This record gives sequence, structure tokens and C-alpha cells, in this order.
Amino acid sequence: MPEQQRVSLDCAIVGGGISGLTAAHSLHTRAPEMKIGIFERKNRFGGILHTRNENGFLFETSADSFITDPPAALELCEQLGLADQLLSTRASRRGAQVLFEGRLLPVPAGFQIMGPRRLWPLITSPLLSWKGKLRACCEPWVPRRKDRGDESLAAFAKRRLGKEVFERLVAPLVGGIYTANPDQLSMDAALPRFVAMERNFGSLYRGMRARARKDRSETDESAARYSLFAAPRGGIEQLLRTLRERLPKDSLHTGTTVTELAQAQENAWEFGTDNAHRFTARHLILATPAFAAADLLESYDPELAGELRKIPYAGCAVACLGYAKDQFAQLPCSFGMVIPPNENRQILAASFSSNKFAGRCPDDHLLIRVFLGGAGREAILEKSDEEIVATAHNELAELLTIRGMPTCHHLSRWERSMPQYHVGHAQLVAGIENRVTRTGNLTLIGNAYHGVGIPQCIDGAVRTAEAICKKETA
Ligand SMILES: Cc1cc2nc3c(=O)[nH]c(=O)nc-3n(C[C@H](O)[C@H](O)[C@H](O)COP(=O)(O)OP(=O)(O)OC[C@H]3O[C@@H](n4cnc5c(N)ncnc54)[C@H](O)[C@@H]3O)c2cc1C
Repeated sequence: MPEQQRVSLDCAIVGGGISGLTAAHSLHTRAPEMKIGIFERKNRFGGILHTRNENGFLFETSADSFITDPPAALELCEQLGLADQLLSTRASRRGAQVLFEGRLLPVPAGFQIMGPRRLWPLITSPLLSWKGKLRACCEPWVPRRKDRGDESLAAFAKRRLGKEVFERLVAPLVGGIYTANPDQLSMDAALPRFVAMERNFGSLYRGMRARARKDRSETDESAARYSLFAAPRGGIEQLLRTLRERLPKDSLHTGTTVTELAQAQENAWEFGTDNAHRFTARHLILATPAFAAADLLESYDPELAGELRKIPYAGCAVACLGYAKDQFAQLPCSFGMVIPPNENRQILAASFSSNKFAGRCPDDHLLIRVFLGGAGREAILEKSDEEIVATAHNELAELLTIRGMPTCHHLSRWERSMPQYHVGHAQLVAGIENRVTRTGNLTLIGNAYHGVGIPQCIDGAVRTAEAICKKETA
């Protein structure tokens, strides 16, 4: 293509998920004079995130909320003027349940992921044997680990809390978030705050207590106003839509796959798209999954591409099912349930969406989201949509005693969507970022590197925009 037909950009962003959209918005807010372009392969922005409204049901096809601490997502919503649109979780139905020997039991009060804030609820929980309780209560006296190397979730949790608490609480609670194999999941990369608690306080129990005291003494207005989880009233799509609407129309390129990438002269990048357009950009942000970034960088730096491909991905499916309330023998009154692997069920977890947030479905219905698949359990994705929905329904009907069929459903498949942070992930990412830094004008962002949650993706994107603006003004 002749030189004059190349569009020249100050910054190009490849990938229009929450990471790419936030980077574009943050750049545009800080430096509106910069000419930016955001390129997304699909016909809509949002990537993994997508909300569908059908007959009064709000189906969140992947994430339905974000945590408010770290506060990056909350801050972005406030900046976008969405603060009055944010819903906190309903106070009356907090808490989760865990399946144990076929029965649903409450997760002991104060137990967060793997941190016991209180010991008494563990001691009185029917979930644990006396031996398991005794072992868990010894946690404050378990010596600190001397080795500073990374450790798997399974090794860490068994060492600190015992095998029973690991199997019956930690594995299902963490599995529901990371869809990961606990023997491979990296503590340093996925759950660093618990590693820090052991290092700083010598115990998770003491660390959790100290954190609770700090939370009580801090007068952070935002944190006090929201619960741990928040969601826009109109669903996650409301955040995506607002971000998109704030960007210049000519910067938005959906249905456009970036196909080739090369470093041009004068310290700029040059790339082409599947619709035969060519661009140059002084700064390039790759906000794609790591394997897609690897494909784009293959001819520029094959070694870097090889390192990026070392980050494995898992797939999962989310089935949203709406039931009339009179179909339940007893309505579930928690936020959801998690299923330990040794219960041999075909579902990972279920979230009772309309118990968590108001306005998710008609008042006479309950909306449930069921998670299936995950690392090592992806065979379920080979089944047809009908079979997966039937599996989700059958499991729910048995566990929650539901009579009859759901009145509506929606299935989403997320193949190769969840990056797996294996032991050594932080080191792998440090090596990748070292190589990338040498280019001077390339940044990799997204859920593959420093956290899979929406707040972590937003934080990475905002920092990148800040760094680019700083370079521009230097
Ligand atoms: C089922 C599920 C439930 C989840 N629940 C939660 C939750 O409740 N709370 C939470 O905080 N997080 C949750 N997460 C995690 C969170 O949603 C994701 O980590 C986050 O949305 C990832 O955003 P991203 O922009 O980094 O990547 P993506 O959303 O994957 O976006 C990357 C984009 O790059 C595009 N792309 C790739 N290659 C190219 C190319 N060559 N050219 C152009 N475009 C390209 C892709 O099409 C894609 O749209 C969940 C994830 C899943 C799968």
C-alpha cells in the first residue's frame, strides 16, 4: 500500500476489552490532543465482558461485579460519573455456602478466601471434623516459611490451615474465582496479600484481624459507602458503554483484527488490519490475551513471543438460569455456593445473582449463574449448548430442590479466556516486561499479567496511560 495511505496515530491500542477501553479513555482524558486508535477483533467492545437484557432478566455472561478494594474500578466509575449508578450487594443476604457430603453448609463467618478473621465460627462449623478444627486453630502458631520462593495455593493453605480446611473451604472458594488447579496456582501472583500476611504478621489470622482493625479505623468515604463487591445498576455493560461513548468516534475500530506488526523507522510501530488498512503509531499498547500478543510479536521478537506463550489459559462456561420463586422448596438466601472438587459434581460454583444485586430479574423470579469447566475440567465445553444448560439445571435442581424447568436461560462459552497464574508466574511476567521495556514504546496490558480481576486490569491500563503521557511531556 502506498505510503500516503497510512494513517498515523500517536497511540494504537490493540484489544477492546476493559483493559484496552480503559487505556484509551485514560489517554484521551489526560491528553485529548493525542490521536489514538483502538482496534477490536469482535463486532463489539468489551472482550470477555458482556451483558444481555432479555424480558426483564439481566444476564451477565462473565463478570457480574468487581471488588471495591483495590479501588481502581470504583475510582473509574466515579470519574465517569457513574457513582450514583453503583449498586452494593444486598446486606440482608450476604455470605456463601459450600457443598459438603451433598449438603449445603454456610462458609464460616469471617472466613475470606483463606483468611480466618474469627476462629469461633470455624470451631462451631459442621463443615470440619474436630481434628480439622484443631489444626485450623493452630494457624497463629504455625511458623513463618523461611523460603521466599513462590509456592502453590495447595502447599500454602495446607501448611498454614491444614488439609481439611484446604479441601473443604480454600480449594472451592479460590477455584470459583480462578478456575485454576490449586496444585499449580501461584500464591505470589494470584494471592499475594496472604503471602504478605504470613510475612508481616506471622499468621493469616493475625493478618486478617489487623486488616479488620485498619478498615474500622479508616474513614475512607468510598470504601464505607460500598460493600466489598459493586456493580453498575445497568450491568457491567453500562461501564463499557460509558467508556466507549467518551472516546472520539474516529478512534473506534470494531470488527478489525490487527494482523501484522513491525517496528518502523523513527521509533514507531507499523501494522496492518484484516480490512487492509495500514497504520503507524508512536506508542503501541497490546491489550490482548498473551497468546494473541505472541502471534503479533512473533516476527519482531520470537523469544518474547515464546515467553508469552508460556502463560496457559483455561476455558469455562457460564449458564444463566431464571426460575420462578415458587419452584423452590426453600429459597436460597446467600450470594451463592461453591463446590469442592471431591464432591464430584459437574459444576464449579453458582452465584445467586438476584440475591446479590437488586433489579437483576422480575421480583417473582430468582436468577442463578452457574460456572462450569475451568482448568482440567474443560471436557464439558465439548458438549452442545443444550447439554451444558441441562447439566447446570440438573445439578441445581438436585442441590437446591427445584421443581420444574427454568423459565429462561442463556449460555456463554469462554474458551481460552482465563489466564492461569502457575507457580513462577510473577518471574515469567517480570522477564517478559524486561524485554518489552527495551523497545521503549510498547506496553502489554490485560488480565494475563498482574491480576485477572476487573480492578487489576483497570489499574494496569491507567498506569500505562500515565506513563505514556509522562513520556510525551518529558
Ligand atoms: C466467566 C468469567 C467470570 C468472571 N468474573 C469476574 C468477576 O465477577 N469480577 C471480576 O473482576 N473479574 C471477573 N472475570 C475476569 C475479568 O472479566 C477479565 O479478566 C477481564 O474482563 C479481562 O479483560 P481484558 O481487557 O484484559 O481482556 P479481554 O476481555 O480478553 O479483551 C481482549 C480483547 O482483545 C481482542 N483481540 C485479540 N487479538 C486481537 C487482534 N489481533 N486484533 C484486535 N483485537 C484483538 C479480543 O477480541 C478481546 O476482545 C471473569 C472472567 C470470566 C471468564
